[in-house]
Amino acid sequence: MIELRNITKKFFQKTRAITALSEVSLTVPEGKIFGVIGSSGAGKSTLIRCVNLLEKPTSGEVIVDGQNLMDLSPKELAKARRHIGMIFQHFNLLSSRTVFENVAFSLELDYTPKAEIEKRVTELLALVGLEGKQHDYPVSLSGGQKQRVAIARTLASNPKVLLCDEATSALDPATTKSILALLKDINKRLNITILLITHEMEVVKDICDEVAVISEGQLIEQGAVSEIFSHP
Ligand code: ADP
Ligand code: ADP
Repeated sequence: MIELRNITKKFFQKTRAITALSEVSLTVPEGKIFGVIGSSGAGKSTLIRCVNLLEKPTSGEVIVDGQNLMDLSPKELAKARRHIGMIFQHFNLLSSRTVFENVAFSLELDYTPKAEIEKRVTELLALVGLEGKQHDYPVSLSGGQKQRVAIARTLASNPKVLLCDEATSALDPATTKSILALLKDINKRLNITILLITHEMEVVKDICDEVAVISEGQLIEQGAVSEIFSHP
């Protein structure tokens, strides 16, 4: 469902080039949860941002749902991105809008009829466990609730793929567990393929089927979670 082929990403600064990713290849099969783990500066953010071309790789190929994103026109890319959801460490909600309005945002951009938006947002809020919160503003929500809104918002555009950029790193351990359980539920129930990046082993052990370890821009190990983290 997601395939990165020989991705290299260099950032060019005034006096030097930083190689953030070096010949990274990975495959995330449909319906799986794939984790990339590594320490700060290893290249995780750059890697996940290459999957929807928020960062354009210097070389290599990005294939999502059978499409080589590097070959698409800006218009085609915008369309393909609609099916690539993303959630972030700091949620990125619109603070001047209610929970309902945050979740409805992409549907409004699509000129979805009002009654349909109402129905869909209500369903999505139920799915993420936020019934009754539609009139609240983000500022009044806990971190876990904010991430639930962000998840509902991204599900509104029916993604096939969900990218999670340190999605639980700002949350306490109990809230982390509940958000991971929700992600697992979404993966199973909606058959959404998930690629996540994290610096926390627990996240990988908790929900991932497969894992890759990244260090200094290179994938140094890759396989089933049980293989990589087995303790003899
Ligand atoms: P991680 O997410 O694992 O902490 P990043 O992908 O953010 O790692 O960064 C990998 C490397 O690339 C780091 O050395 C970082 O400083 C560098 N880097 C990331 N983004 C940029 C950028 N926009 N310009 C220059 N260097 C960058
Ligand atoms: P994280 O690891 O949580 O992504 P970072 O501090 O590495 O946080 O990066 C935050 C933002 O700053 C990212 O958009 C990244 O691309 C950019 N960035 C990271 N390192 C550099 C750098 N050396 N120069 C310019 N931008 C950078």
